[in-house]
Amino acid sequence: MAKKTLEDCPPETLANEVVVVRVDYNVPLDGDGEVVDHTRLVRTLPTVQYLVEAGARTVLLSHLGRPNGRRDGALSLRPLAGRLEKLLGSSVCFCPATTGPLAREAVQGMKSGDVLLLENTRFCPEERRNDLEWAEEIRYGTKLFVNDAFGAAHRAHASTQGIADVVRAAGGEAVAGFLLEQELRFLCDAIADPVHPFVAVIGGAKISSKIDVIEALLPAVDRLLIGGAMANTFFKARGWVVGDSLVEEDRIDTARSLMELAGDKLLLPVDVVAAPYIESEALTRVAAVDEVREGECIGDIGPRSVRSFADELERARTIVWSGPMGVFELAPFESGTFGVARAAASTADRGATVIGGGGDSVAAVVAAGVVGRITHISTGGSASLQLLAGKTLPGVAALSDRCQAGMT
Ligand code: ADP
Ligand code: MG
Repeated sequence: MAKKTLEDCPPETLANEVVVVRVDYNVPLDGDGEVVDHTRLVRTLPTVQYLVEAGARTVLLSHLGRPNGRRDGALSLRPLAGRLEKLLGSSVCFCPATTGPLAREAVQGMKSGDVLLLENTRFCPEERRNDLEWAEEIRYGTKLFVNDAFGAAHRAHASTQGIADVVRAAGGEAVAGFLLEQELRFLCDAIADPVHPFVAVIGGAKISSKIDVIEALLPAVDRLLIGGAMANTFFKARGWVVGDSLVEEDRIDTARSLMELAGDKLLLPVDVVAAPYIESEALTRVAAVDEVREGECIGDIGPRSVRSFADELERARTIVWSGPMGVFELAPFESGTFGVARAAASTADRGATVIGGGGDSVAAVVAAGVVGRITHISTGGSASLQLLAGKTLPGVAALSDRCQAGMT
């Protein structure tokens, strides 16, 4: 790691210190505002526990949703404090303000080992403006800022980049928390120097959202497997009928040049699950890729494709997976994604490194029931895609460098 991490901060230096930690508690909410999944809280526990055990005074900052710089009761972080308390096994206080006298008082009243969750940073317009005066306020005088919010690291906001800059300007350190460190280790390091065979499985809705990832991975991989709706654009580029399937008409040329660039590395589905419409009651049929009819929609990769993808995955020593193979949310179209998930999981069981990234891919791995067997599941959607595409994340770039020791 080129950046300092919490490991560079021995516990004895933390006792009684105010430590400000940016976490990503931007959890999914259902229609009633109930939290659907607490994974993002669970994944920050190593960092929060480390600080509590060291006797620090831990101040947590996070955003939730897109309140547009205004207070919105439905997006308050208050319910998450109780949940974090249960997970942590020690008390977590909540303050209904992010800055101002109320928040300052709450921070000043903290004792060694206390954890305080402040209100949603995005209730304040300064957050997205990356306002440095406001960043100075949310610093609460700390000399140590910990960024553990991988899912927000692609944003240059006050609580991700600004605060790191002001802490370093004040002679302090801005370091990566354990979750952020783990994300960087898997999504950058494992891919920069992968154990071969290295196979990437890319799926999901659109080529346009993953073209940068495909281009960045292509030179490094031995095989590139493409499924999901984005495969349809490749089918169309080959001149095959795709009926009413989801296609990006303006990306047909992109698909064509990718096929040329990738050559033998690229493996496309050989068969698909087609139906008159994509619905849970749809009557489906398996068709070879060149036998889809007008009026049909492609909803998944077919069983022969699953076998050929699984063969490649079984031989792999490193796998990166981003994007489902079909509309896995609906039973008639789930088999392709689940089959690939199971193949990737059994390869992981045999000691290969399997990395999953992307919001819906994670949901798919969970739905397939193999989540515990995958080596690393990223907590960031866009952030993980940007990292896989070789881009620098502003929240990471702003952290303290670890250059003195001559490390890279
Ligand atoms: P991720 O969030 O993992 O990066 P995307 O957001 O790119 O993935 O795409 C996920 C969505 O793509 C899923 O909701 C899935 O239903 C949809 N999808 C996959 N294959 C198809 C298909 N053949 N037709 C329509 N939608 C599809
Ligand atoms: Mg998505």
